Amino acid sequence: MDTRPDEILPLRVGNTAGVLGLGVAGRATVRFLLQHGLRLKVSDLRSQQQVEAEEPGFLNFLAAHGVSTEFAGHSATFLDGLDLLVPGPGVPLHSPLLVAARQRHIPLAGELALAAGRLPAPVIAVTGANGKTTVTGLIGHLLGVAGKKTFVGGNIGTPLLEYCLNPAAYDSLVLELSSFQLDLAGAFRPDVGLLLNITPDHLDRHGSLAAYAAAKMRLFAAQQAEDVAILGCDDPLVAATMLNTGVERFCFGQGKDCACRVEEQGVRLLLPNQEVYFSLAQTRLASTVNRLNAAAAILAARLVGCSSEAIQEGLTSFQPPAHRMAEVAVLNGVSYIDDSKATNIGALAAALASCKGSVLLIAGGRDKGGDYRLLRDIVSRKVRRLLLLGEAAPLMQEALGDLVATQRVSDMQEAVQCASKVARGGEVVLLAPGCSSFDMFSGYEERGRVFSQAVLALSAAGATAPAQTQAAPTGEGQACVR
Ligand code: ADP
Repeated sequence: MDTRPDEILPLRVGNTAGVLGLGVAGRATVRFLLQHGLRLKVSDLRSQQQVEAEEPGFLNFLAAHGVSTEFAGHSATFLDGLDLLVPGPGVPLHSPLLVAARQRHIPLAGELALAAGRLPAPVIAVTGANGKTTVTGLIGHLLGVAGKKTFVGGNIGTPLLEYCLNPAAYDSLVLELSSFQLDLAGAFRPDVGLLLNITPDHLDRHGSLAAYAAAKMRLFAAQQAEDVAILGCDDPLVAATMLNTGVERFCFGQGKDCACRVEEQGVRLLLPNQEVYFSLAQTRLASTVNRLNAAAAILAARLVGCSSEAIQEGLTSFQPPAHRMAEVAVLNGVSYIDDSKATNIGALAAALASCKGSVLLIAGGRDKGGDYRLLRDIVSRKVRRLLLLGEAAPLMQEALGDLVATQRVSDMQEAVQCASKVARGGEVVLLAPGCSSFDMFSGYEERGRVFSQAVLALSAAGATAPAQTQAAPTGEGQACVR
């Protein structure tokens, strides 16, 4: 890939940039801008101690580089003298400080805009409402098996600007990108842009599904004729994505014209003059949803030159990430599934659709502004009892409570115990909250761990759990196929 100097955001030595938020991405931004010789002002809503606790020594580093700092809030004078403002992905575009920056004509750039034109290796960028982490990790794994030195990061793991500090170490990049990052993507131009699906999420920040979809589609805004787009065409919103002239389009899904088609036991790649079948039967990607994810990843890997042999080997050795449809135990014939990462309505619907038996669903948490009535059809078909917890419980009860027996619970232990008392052999107790976890937990990981502990406490109290399912807590549910 050429460096396209016309698209590089100018970073002039001696100019002053402001960085809002010193999370992992903000700290990488600081290092990157200092490397380019800018003067910096940084501001964080958290206290000095909280920032220092995240990366001991970072405050000394700032002081040593003459960075001006403010903590526990953003001051009115923070924007004074700025030539550029870099808000962290968590800062909403309509926040008063960003509105004021725009009024003062201070350019805004996210990390993608800063990196644009400064990425010497081919970039595969993955976005969508659900499946990003799984697909990003899988592509990274496939490229690794094919012998490529691959940087895997972005919205997960290491921020993109860390790569920019040492690009020589890698020969390809696979990035997971959120809608928040894409909001300020500037001229960021992936060689391969991959859009999985668009279902309602983060509407509390974006305001509407249309605005959320528009942010996702920004992935393709700067692409040019030699770039490619991979689209999950089973999703009508994704299938309707408009691409720039000359950008080549590859679809995956169930349609006849898909370049990578999902079949009963695997995935068929159908590119001009080549047809390759990849079996997923002996992999941890056999479920409905993961076959789709595998199709997306296979296309991406193939388009950057991985061999069929390396791809098949990588599919077989891939371990999906935890808290996604992970079977914790089977107790008295009831399967307990941890899908704590189902933090929006689309993921919850996909989880339910994949369960074979009827479901005792544990849902709720912090509401993200979606419409739970969209779940009415799938809930009435699949759910026998609804156990609701957290802040969103009243909203969910109002939207769904007339369809099935519904019970409000105060914590995860109570939810699991209540579900276990009414569950019958062949049924599934599914944690798929459809909400974020931050009202009760530090994150979806803690929520999933607490669920697993509650399930294993049941087993310790007398129910029997088969050894193989307990030994593999991150495996896919036997009673659920996705
Ligand atoms: P993301 O990074 O987009 O949140 P993950 O791979 O972490 O995606 O999966 C999050 C949730 O979405 C999990 O509950 C998972 O079971 C579900 N999921 C994974 N892939 C898909 C898909 N292709 N379509 C719908 N839901 C999916």
